[in-house]
Amino acid sequence: MTSYPQNTAAIIDPVKLDRLAEVAIKVGLRLQPGQDLLLTAPVVALPLVRRIARHAYEAGAGLVTPILSDEEITLSRFRLAGDVSFDRAPAWLYEGMAKAFSANTARLAVVGDNPMLLSGEDPAKVSRANKANSVAYQPALEKIAGFDINWNIVAYPGASWARQVFPDDEESVAVAKLADAIFSASRVDGEDPISAWAAHNAALHRRTEWLNGERFQALHFTGPGTDLTVGLADGHQWQGGASTANNGIVCNPNIPTEEVFTTPHALRVDGYVASTKPLSYQGTLIDQIAVRFEAGRIVEARAARGEEVLNKVLDTDEGARRLGEVALVPHSSPISKSGILFFNTLFDENASCHVALGQCYSKCFVGGDKLQPGEITAQGGNKSLIHIDWMIGSNAIDIDGIRADGSRVPVFRQGEWA
Ligand code: ZN
Ligand code: ZN
Repeated sequence: MTSYPQNTAAIIDPVKLDRLAEVAIKVGLRLQPGQDLLLTAPVVALPLVRRIARHAYEAGAGLVTPILSDEEITLSRFRLAGDVSFDRAPAWLYEGMAKAFSANTARLAVVGDNPMLLSGEDPAKVSRANKANSVAYQPALEKIAGFDINWNIVAYPGASWARQVFPDDEESVAVAKLADAIFSASRVDGEDPISAWAAHNAALHRRTEWLNGERFQALHFTGPGTDLTVGLADGHQWQGGASTANNGIVCNPNIPTEEVFTTPHALRVDGYVASTKPLSYQGTLIDQIAVRFEAGRIVEARAARGEEVLNKVLDTDEGARRLGEVALVPHSSPISKSGILFFNTLFDENASCHVALGQCYSKCFVGGDKLQPGEITAQGGNKSLIHIDWMIGSNAIDIDGIRADGSRVPVFRQGEWA
């Protein structure tokens, strides 16, 4: 059972929390005067949500609509709801979200609940509920994945999440530590976070410009348990830091972010690869993943822990066995240096080079906003209901870029930019 949270919010520095809210609105979203905002968050994150709403209205927001979730209500479903509940999802809500996005509403998600909340529940129910939700969410997800509007994710140090990350500490200490880690990774622990983000975005853009100039055909990863050639999609484009949504607004979808990333070719991935960090997937920890690819498709998948869940995920649809993203993050990134396993992709993916199974991002193509789904497929973009990042980087990984003429350029050596 989750105990009712004590007043751990008092431990969280209100100045830094306010800066995080300001960064979410001014950097993460660049919310425009008159623009509406749809905000989803756990109830524990209300201290942040209220500050976000205030900064949104100060920036001229039209209408801020919050939708809140709660751990105890979620657990009640898994423990008490009838069997039919687990094939259902609020399609009407997601259709409404898709409609709002079509009308240029911005989207902000606050994460803060324990990512392992469902770890003690029936895995079959969890997997059915996830699948039903993915199917229903598709109309809204398409507009997010297609980058039709400015969107952003930020994190709040909820007490149950903090206890998961720091199990040996008292709750108040755990919350303080998670708050520090979130504030530092989100670059709001200095006096001028807006300038800090401008400098960080400029550094990430220097990397993407170099990679886009090189136009590599493939990346070759080598390291312990890994010898993987990731072909890149035709007309792929590297992205990182701030980028321009189809509605013309330059925003930072993820806070924090350390990655530069692009689209692999769904049919041109070969070799084997081992994960370097555990993957927390909707309540299950999947650890020591080892997979083999042939012509882009995973033909063999093992995991020391969570193998059954991994195989269920791979069976979601045909695209679930193929890659939709490859991302480069140096081993010396601040989140990696913190050594913390957050059990949350928003943070953990920024600690390591990673690949994602499933759906690709159309913005990772040159002129991607104008490409039709059929053209994206023809250029090698993958399609799936899922998009799951897992970590393959470490201080032992080397990466070569392979040019069209077969020549090689060092990209990473021992986990760092070459
Ligand atoms: Zn990524
Ligand atoms: Zn991803």
